[in-house]
Formats: sequence, C-alpha cells, structure tokens
Amino acid sequence: MAQQDDVFKKIVSHAKEYGFVFPSSEIYDGLSAVYDYGQNGVELKNNIKRYWWDAMTLLHENIVGIDSAIFMHPTIWKASGHVDAFNDPLIDNRDSKKRYRADVLIEEDLAKLDDKVEKEVAKARKRFGETFDEALFRETNPRIAQILAEKTELTERFAKAMNDNNLEELRQIIIDREIVCPISGTRNWTEVRQFNLMFKTEMGSTADGAMGVYLRPETAQGIFVNFLNVQKTGRMRIPFGIAQIGKAFRNEIVARQFIFRMREFEQMEMQFFVRPGEELTWFQTWKEFRLKWHKALGLGDEKYRYHDHEKLAHYANAATDIEFQMPFGFKEVEGIHSRTNFDLSQHEKFSGKNIKYFDPELNESYTPYVIETSIGVDRMFLSVLCSSYEEQQLEGGEKRVVLHLPAPLAPVKCAVMPLVKKDGLPEKAREIVNELKFDFSTHYDEKDSIGKRYRRQDAIGTPFCITVDHQTLEDNTVTLRHRDSMEQSRVNIDDLHKLIHDSVSINSLLRKLK
Ligand code: ATP
Repeated sequence: MAQQDDVFKKIVSHAKEYGFVFPSSEIYDGLSAVYDYGQNGVELKNNIKRYWWDAMTLLHENIVGIDSAIFMHPTIWKASGHVDAFNDPLIDNRDSKKRYRADVLIEEDLAKLDDKVEKEVAKARKRFGETFDEALFRETNPRIAQILAEKTELTERFAKAMNDNNLEELRQIIIDREIVCPISGTRNWTEVRQFNLMFKTEMGSTADGAMGVYLRPETAQGIFVNFLNVQKTGRMRIPFGIAQIGKAFRNEIVARQFIFRMREFEQMEMQFFVRPGEELTWFQTWKEFRLKWHKALGLGDEKYRYHDHEKLAHYANAATDIEFQMPFGFKEVEGIHSRTNFDLSQHEKFSGKNIKYFDPELNESYTPYVIETSIGVDRMFLSVLCSSYEEQQLEGGEKRVVLHLPAPLAPVKCAVMPLVKKDGLPEKAREIVNELKFDFSTHYDEKDSIGKRYRRQDAIGTPFCITVDHQTLEDNTVTLRHRDSMEQSRVNIDDLHKLIHDSVSINSLLRKLK
C-alpha cells in the first residue's frame, strides 16, 4: 500500500511537471479540491470528451446532445430532491480534528472484509499449489463463510441506516466496528450530522432581494427540463437519448485524492428515455455498452469491475457503478442508473406542465422511464493517467518515465525533430510539421540531444517521434519511433499521414464499439 501511495504521489507531481494538472490558484497557496488543467491536460481531457461524445451521438442515431446552463430555476432542485436530500453524513474525530464521511468510513470497513477473503484465497493458493480449486475453496471454506456472513450483516445494517436516514445508527456502526481515525488512531468520534453539498449563490439585485440559486450539482436536470424541447424540435421517438457534457459543483466534505473528488468537476451524462416496463432491458444494454467503451481504450480489462448497488436511491430500480483500479483501490468512475420516471414526474408536479410523451405505436401517452449513464471526466482522466504511467529501467542503466496513453487520447500525436540544427534539416522538419499539423497535434523540437527530446515526448505520452536526418534529404524517408516499443523504422514521408492516422484517430476506438 505504501508503495502504491508512493506511485500515486509521483503521478500527481508528474501531472504538474508536464503541464497536465495544476492546483488552482497556486500562487495564493491553492484552493482545496479545485484544479486547473494545463496545456497537455486540456488536450487529453478534450480527447476523452470527444471519444465519449462521438460514441454517444455519432454511433447512435437516436441520441442527440445539448448544452444547458449551469444556473437553473431553484425550484428544479426542490423537484429533483437535491434541496432536501443531497446530503452526506459527516463525522469528526475530536483528536485529529479531521472530518470524514460516515458512509465512506463504513464502506471502507466493508471493503476490508473483501480484502480478508482475498487474503484467505491467496494463502490457500500458495499452500495447495497447482491442485488448488479456487471456486470450491470459496464455496466451502468455513473461514470465508464466516467473513461473508459478517459482511452481509454489516451491509444490511448499513443500508437500513442510510435508507432510514438514521444518523445515530451510522455512528453506532462506526463505534461497534471499532473504526479508528487514520490520522489520530482514536475512536473519539462526534455525532453524525447531515451536510448539503450544493453551493448556493445569489442572482440579480431587486429591491426585495436577489434570488437564491444553486450551482448545479449534476448536469442531468438540465436534460430533464429540456426533455420536451428536444423531443418536439428533434421529432425524437422513444427510445431516444440526450447527452450533455458540463461542469458540476459539489461542496464535498472530504476532498482528497487529487482530481478524484473535486468541488468543481465535469460530467458526461446521457439520459435515455424508454417505455415503462422496458427499462431493465435497456439498463442491461447500457451497462454492457459503457463497459465496452472503457475497455476499448486498452488500459487492461482486469482493471474494471461492476459494483451493483445494494442500496438504491428511492427513485431507482437498478443501479451499478463501473469501478476502475486506481492506485488507491477500485473506485467509481461511472454510474449507470435506472431512474424510473421519477425526475420527469417530479418536474411535471412542480412546474404544473404536462411532460408526457405520446407514443404513436401504442397510441397512448405516458411519462417515459429513464436510464442514465453518468461519468466524471476528471475521474476518467485520472484512470487514464494512472494506468498509463510507467517508470522503465532501460538497458545500459538508463531510466525513462513514459505515459502509455491510448494514442487517440494523447495530447500530442507526433513530434518532428531535425537530428541536427543545420544542413537544411530544420527546414525539412518544418515542412513536415506544416503538412501534418492540419490533422494532428504536432510538436517541433530541435533543442537538446535526440535522446532527451525522445524522453520529453515519452513523458507526455506522444505516440510517434519523427526524426529528420541527412538521408531524408536524399530519399525522402525519416525515422519513425514508436513510444511504447521504442522501435524505429524508416518510412517515406508520404506514408506518414496514413500511418499516424490509423493509430491516433478517435475513429479507431469507435470502430471497436460496434
Ligand atoms: P461518490 O459516491 O464517489 O461521491 P457519486 O455516486 O455521488 O460519487 P454520481 O452522483 O453518481 O457520483 O456522479 C456521477 C459521476 O460523477 C461519478 O461516477 C464520478 O465519476 C463523477 N463525480 C461525482 N462527484 C465527483 C467529484 N466530487 N469529483 C469528481 N468527479 C465526481
């Protein structure tokens, strides 16, 4: 674990050193849980967004996008339940003065029980060697049965406490489980309190006071309140979806782990409207499609898992998270929720407007059911960054840090380098840049030794380096160096465009989804 913490620290400082992510307002000592994206970060982030947007809107003729405002009528948040229930239960440790989310402390305790099971399995595997039947062991081992029973009991108690909004019981679970503060190591806990996560501000200045408005805590409501606008003007027929990418704001109690939990972040959400009764089939379809989208990036299939929710929000009838193996454990990157007709019905009730869909095939009107896929851009960014980072020991004692970013997401696609700064090589290199730049983000670099220039590109994940040397002037060929294998091949300048395009286009990812 300590080693993983170490790696994570290195990734965070690498992200800063190479212009991916900076702490916000750094010259004023920063602003907690707010970050800025630098010159490379913004490109990586835009590429992630492009991949998502195109996977939704290009590949599905029944999904369209919108871009709704961050400020919305305050009653929207009453209708959605956020004013009354968008709370996190918080608890303080009196000794360390640190604040925690009570539910997260308990979830971490639950995860420890899973770890215990895995440890038992690993021990047995070692003991039995090749004859080990893991499935049988998991089913029949009494120690595992005991841990799983403990887990079921705790899960049920926790779910009930959360559903009943029973804050005393949450505290009691923390006490009974002997959960300690990781900083002070003590169990000197305060009571549990509810804390609303929405940021509030004021709009306008009228004589009788300004109107209190919220910074949206999710982008989804902008889609729901535009349901009829899009359906009518786009002549959409159910089933259809509306996608949106945009900022969301949450006054998180505990903001840790870099860009994993931010107070200002970005979401990519798609609400898919379906006939009542068909939602669970669609839920399954979207669950599978979304995992496929993740896996197409090639970060490693074993790094993903579903986490089906045992505790469902009152309006949901199915929910799952796609979790990714971060250096600090498997964590939620995306949520897929079957939200029933809750949101549209609530807006119908609170606005007094009819928000029904007339289904010409059934010849009846109804409030559509909704499947939501909701993914955080920043968490996605973090998962890509963490799984791409590698410190490599090279032959001859040299070291390099390389980001094995999926080529279509890389901020810079190719760097063109004259071997030396004379003999017409820089001019030739510029010529190549001036041709490639229309299609690919291309760097020109002539400073330092070629080795150093390669390292700089490796560190930001550039898939291709193109070196122009004296032979180039004679036969129009260059060396093309591949980031991951470091292999170099001699290619004709006329072939560069196709070679690069085939591996860096978002299109190549999208084709894996069909
Ligand atoms: P968590 O349980 O981690 O707080 P959540 O279940 O509240 O997350 P959702 O409301 O389902 O999250 O939001 C959908 C997605 O938005 C999440 O899967 C995550 O990727 C992203 N997200 C949510 N909160 C944050 C945050 N504070 N910082 C960055 N991304 C976030």
